Amino acid sequence: MSNSADVVVLGAGPAGYVCAIRLAQLGKKVTVIDRAEVGGVCLNRGCIPSKALIYAGGLYEKISHGTEIGIEVEGAKINLPKLMKWKESVVQKLTGGVASLLKANGCQFIAGDAKFTGPKILEVKTASGIQQVTFNQIVIATGSRPAALPGFEVDQKQILDSTGALSLQKLPKSMLCIGGGYIGLELGMFYAKVGVKVTVVEAGPGLLGGGRPRFNQSSR
Ligand SMILES: Cc1cc2nc3c(=O)[nH]c(=O)nc-3n(C[C@H](O)[C@H](O)[C@H](O)COP(=O)(O)OP(=O)(O)OC[C@H]3O[C@@H](n4cnc5c(N)ncnc54)[C@H](O)[C@@H]3O)c2cc1C
Repeated sequence: MSNSADVVVLGAGPAGYVCAIRLAQLGKKVTVIDRAEVGGVCLNRGCIPSKALIYAGGLYEKISHGTEIGIEVEGAKINLPKLMKWKESVVQKLTGGVASLLKANGCQFIAGDAKFTGPKILEVKTASGIQQVTFNQIVIATGSRPAALPGFEVDQKQILDSTGALSLQKLPKSMLCIGGGYIGLELGMFYAKVGVKVTVVEAGPGLLGGGRPRFNQSSR
């Protein structure tokens, strides 16, 4: 199968989908390609799920301290699988909204893993086979992924990256957060609010430094 577009937008995260919609509004024939769900990290594994968890953690904490201001709720407890299901429903509502926006603006969406096979041609591995996509221009909006820390193999069980930390099904007794940037602190604070003993380790001079990850040279 083949497909041709004025512009291909590779990556349907917040950078890609906004750009694709605007290009389509300006009259371009746009094809958006993503190997995962529309919405990218932000909607699926970043901003939105983390804010949903933080909201729930804050609410639980408020309820737990309600007696101090005369609001007594007995037996409040965290049902983590249910909380995660609710978080997933928030994500799905928003990704569904983005998919509708792309469609309503006339953007074609292809779900698949893309690689260049020429300067103006991509090969996309989709569930139903390989598709060739040709284009005049391309916007590469392929985003980022969690940094790997030498010596710590992520298994999403004991050693989690941010994606794993957004989907735990059982609360651990304690948690070590390596990195005191906003992601480590947001996720750490959620778990602390629901009763986990959280310790944050940061190599930089302070929290929320916004620096690049630091690795010990000898452990590289
Ligand atoms: C836990 C967490 C919390 C966050 N909270 C916030 C926040 O509160 N506020 C904020 O501003 N930012 C936040 N971020 C950061 C935010 O998620 C990113 O800045 C944002 O997602 C970047 O958008 P993007 O479109 O550039 O890339 P991405 O969202 O990474 O999207 C890139 C897309 O490209 C696709 N892709 C990559 N390669 C290929 C390929 N070869 N073929 C097909 N598809 C491909 C990927 O599947 C992905 O969907 C958070 C991130 C995390 C992890």
